[in-house]
Amino acid sequence: MAESEMRVVLVTGGGGLVGKAVQHCIENLGEKREGETWIFCTSKDADLTDLESTKQLIAKYKPTHILHLAALVGGLYVNLARNLDFFRVNMKINDNVLLAAHEANINKVVSCLSSCIFPDKIKYPIDESSLHLGPPHDSNFGYSYAKRMVEVLNRGYNDQYGRQFVSVIPTNVFGPHDNFHLQNSHVIPGLIHKIYLRKQDPIKNDFKVMGTGKPLRQFIFSHDLAKLMIWTVREYSEKKPLILSVGEKDEISIRDAVMNICSALDYPFENLQFDTTKSDGQYKKTVSNEKIVKLLPDFKFTPFDEAVKETCDWFVKNFDSCRK
Ligand code: NAP
Ligand code: GDP
Repeated sequence: MAESEMRVVLVTGGGGLVGKAVQHCIENLGEKREGETWIFCTSKDADLTDLESTKQLIAKYKPTHILHLAALVGGLYVNLARNLDFFRVNMKINDNVLLAAHEANINKVVSCLSSCIFPDKIKYPIDESSLHLGPPHDSNFGYSYAKRMVEVLNRGYNDQYGRQFVSVIPTNVFGPHDNFHLQNSHVIPGLIHKIYLRKQDPIKNDFKVMGTGKPLRQFIFSHDLAKLMIWTVREYSEKKPLILSVGEKDEISIRDAVMNICSALDYPFENLQFDTTKSDGQYKKTVSNEKIVKLLPDFKFTPFDEAVKETCDWFVKNFDSCRK
C-alpha cells in the first residue's frame, strides 16, 4: 500500500465510554483494516482545553483523520448543577481540536454532538435539519449550546477552507467502560451501580429512582455506536450532521429501562420507588434514524435487553476498577 493511502486515526476521548467501544471494535470485533492505525488518547496525553497541548498531541501522532470524542459529559443532574462549566469546557475543547486539526492540514475530523442538544419544542421525530431551530431544554443549555457550535465551526472550516469536518449525533449511549458514578452519571450506569449496591445491603444502600420514570429515550449500545462511527470516519463526508440512533419504535420509558436493569441484575423491580419530586429532564427527544438506515440498510442494532445484560455483567466483573 502506498504511503499516501495509509491512515492514522487519532481518537480523542479514547479512554471514555465511546472511545473504549471504538477500540474494542477495532481490536476485538474484526473492524481493523490494513493500512489504518488507530491511536486512542485520554486527558493524560493532552489537556484539550489548552491549545498548545492540543497542537503538541497532533504534532506527535501526525494523524490523517481525527475522531473527536473528548468532552465534559454527564447526566441530567450534574448538567443542572454545572451548566456554565459544561459550556466553557466544551467550547474550549472543540475550538482547540478543530483549529489545531486545520492548522496541521488534517482534512477529515468527525466530531460528536448529542440528541439532547436539539430544540426542546420541536416537531417529532427530530431530524438533522432542526439543530438550530429553537432553544434547547433548560436543564443542559450549557452543554447544548457548546455542542451546537461544533456544527457552526464545521460549516466555517468547510466553506472557508474546503475541509471535511463532519459531525454525528448519537442518542443516549451506554455500555462497558461507562461512568458509573452515583451522582454524576447518566441513568443506566448510575442505576446499575445503585441497584447492585442495594442488592448487597438494602438498608445501607437505600435509594429512590429519580423522577417519575415516564420520560422516553432511545438508548444505543456503545458497541453499535462505535461501529457506526468507524464507518463514518471512513465513508461519511456530507456537510450535514448524521443522527446515529435506534429507530423510533425502540424508544422506551425510563421505567422500562430500570426494569431491564433489575432483570439483568436479578433484583425485584417491585422493591424500587420513584422520587417524583426530582426533575425528569426533557420528556422526550425522539429522533428519526432514517438517514443512517438508508446509508447502511443491513446494520443490526443489538437488542436493548442483551446490551443491558452485557453492560451489567461487565460492571459486576470490573466493579473494583471501573469508573465510579
Ligand atoms: P466519557 O466516557 O465521559 O469520555 C469522555 C472522554 O473525554 C474521556 O476519555 C476524557 O478523558 C476525555 N476528556 C474530557 N476532558 C478532556 C480534556 N480536557 N482533555 C482531554 N480529554 C478530555 O464520555 P462518552 O460518553 O464516551 O462521550 C463521548 C462523546 O459522545 C462526547 O463527545 C459526548 O458529548 C458524546 N455523547 C455521549 C452520549 C452519552 O450518553 N454518553 C450521548 C450523546 C453524545 P479522561 O477519561 O482521561 O478524563
Ligand atoms: P438525559 O437523557 O440527558 O436526561 O440524561 P440522564 O441519563 O441523566 O437521565 C435520563 C432520565 O433518567 C431523567 O428522566 C432522569 O430523571 C432519570 N433518572 C432516574 N434515576 C436517575 C439517576 O440515578 N441518574 C440519572 N442521571 N438519571 C436518572
